[in-house]
Amino acid sequence: MIPDLPGNIADIKGFLAGDEASALYRHALQASQLGPVLEIGSYCGKSTIYLGLACRRNNATVFALDHHRGSEEHQRGEYFHDPDLYDSGEGVMDTFREFRRNIRNAGLDDTVVPIVAGSEAASRQWHTPLSMVFIDGGHSLDAALTDYRCWTAHLMRDGILAIHDLFEDAFEGGQAPWAIYRMAVASGLFEDIGRVNSLGVLRRL
Ligand code: MG
Repeated sequence: MIPDLPGNIADIKGFLAGDEASALYRHALQASQLGPVLEIGSYCGKSTIYLGLACRRNNATVFALDHHRGSEEHQRGEYFHDPDLYDSGEGVMDTFREFRRNIRNAGLDDTVVPIVAGSEAASRQWHTPLSMVFIDGGHSLDAALTDYRCWTAHLMRDGILAIHDLFEDAFEGGQAPWAIYRMAVASGLFEDIGRVNSLGVLRRL
């Protein structure tokens, strides 16, 4: 049982299974004793809340990186498009409003630091070592590779690299997260510390 979970957690939009959420919380609780956690792809903040509740217990920070314009599959006409998150005035997806509402409602405004930017732009001047990087961003190979290259270099020793949406079978889902996961394993820089559903967890050696 995770303390302080907001009552509406089940209603928050997002794609995160219960066992994956618990695993994120557990790893963030341990990792954030060492430093800040970075999440890539926050969407409406569901996973951010689990990371945030863990970090708050250690007085640590979650950097929640998302351009909030939706990934490829969230765009109009795509399978995972949600019209409630579409700003028709601007003609773009906007998940930031919903994200902020959910983080505030969870009481995590002092723990979660949103970074509203693309992955590459946000990483350009980044120098802060990270205790955990959770990659849950775009599923194109280009987006996943960018997230991997830009952020894993900032993981501290013993830091956790978690990657969401691992599907070995292409019929189950896109292959880009699986590709960067395999790349991380093949690099020899990480130890495999387990899989929970579609979440892969590695530790930086
Ligand atoms: Mg995901």
